[in-house]
Amino acid sequence: MAKAYHDHDADLSLIQAKKVAIIGYGSQGHAHALNLKDSGVDVKVGLRPGSPNEAKAKNAGLEVLPVAEAAKWADVIMLLVPDQTAAKVYKEVEPGLTAGKTLMFAHGFNIRFRTINPPADVDVSLVAPKGPGHRVREVFTEGGGVPGLVAVEQDATGNALKLALSYAKGIGCTRGGVLETTFTEETETDLFGEQAVLCGGTAALVKAGFEVLTEAGYQPELAYFEVLHELKLIVDLMYRGGLEYMRYSISDTAEWGDYVAGPRIVTPAVKDAMKGLLKDIQDGTFAKKFIEENETGRKGFERIRKEEAAHPVEKVGKDLRKSMPFLDPVEVKDGNVVKV
Ligand code: NDP
Ligand code: MG
Ligand code: MG
Repeated sequence: MAKAYHDHDADLSLIQAKKVAIIGYGSQGHAHALNLKDSGVDVKVGLRPGSPNEAKAKNAGLEVLPVAEAAKWADVIMLLVPDQTAAKVYKEVEPGLTAGKTLMFAHGFNIRFRTINPPADVDVSLVAPKGPGHRVREVFTEGGGVPGLVAVEQDATGNALKLALSYAKGIGCTRGGVLETTFTEETETDLFGEQAVLCGGTAALVKAGFEVLTEAGYQPELAYFEVLHELKLIVDLMYRGGLEYMRYSISDTAEWGDYVAGPRIVTPAVKDAMKGLLKDIQDGTFAKKFIEENETGRKGFERIRKEEAAHPVEKVGKDLRKSMPFLDPVEVKDGNVVKV
């Protein structure tokens, strides 16, 4: 049984007694900084010069410092920049990371694959919310919390776990429950989940389903509703009551279809492919290739991103969502989110 921590297991006063630097103000950064501030924690944000997010942080009432200064000022430094740039940003953090301080992460990638090697006299811990940053903020303001994971890699002070749990409480995670893990387990399961099921698997399933229907002559708008729009409604049921509640809510026809068709789609060969993904994650092949891709100009990354954006399911979806303003539809244009 995984060890779980809740609000009453964490002492908020520990993190309230520390100076906390949030490095980065993106998806996770803004959520951690604002939730901690609302929890009465002394927070400053560390950003690179000319950051487009500086105004956002300041408008939210946060003080912004250059990365190195924020690290020097803080007792606890949470690194919330993209995983592929964290090692570079860490070089600016390192001089301020003196004995007894705490270095924190929201994902174990750079510690697990040794691209960041902190000194032995600091604590190294992880609080990883199991949800996108924007939900970490929204759910918190609604009084709830996104569940999370906690791990300690180095415990120089002997207090690393207690402080990490206090941090987790400050951002709302202990309201949802925080499971204890290790950097290795968090990193490997997180990468596997996003590749095999959440992002890679689901996106491929949606595209394949859309292609089969439209290639067979069915209208793309109907195909979109069937394989993408309705997916959320089905997942909402699973989220509340597992597969059982989803199957309770759908028709018997759909339930029988689920039982007989599922194994024809996710065949033993698919499971073997998943095992291949896991092996590449565990032996460092995935990390090595991802780091290489980033160090050589991200040509493949940008090319695939463009190709994927041109998929017909994206075009028809954009048009359909315009007539559903209650979905709060958005578009990503040049890396920025805009309302449509
Ligand atoms: P983002 O891509 O949203 O981070 C963007 C921030 O990082 C911006 O403030 C950006 O600066 C800053 N940044 C990028 N490059 C640099 C640089 N070279 N120097 C200084 N600052 C830089 O990251 P996420 O929030 O997605 O991810 C942060 C961490 O959280 C990662 O470890 C990720 O794995 C983990 N995580 C993320 C989740 C998510 O929901 N996205 C979920 C769980 C964990 P600027 O403002 O100048 O653009
Ligand atoms: Mg991830
Ligand atoms: Mg149906």
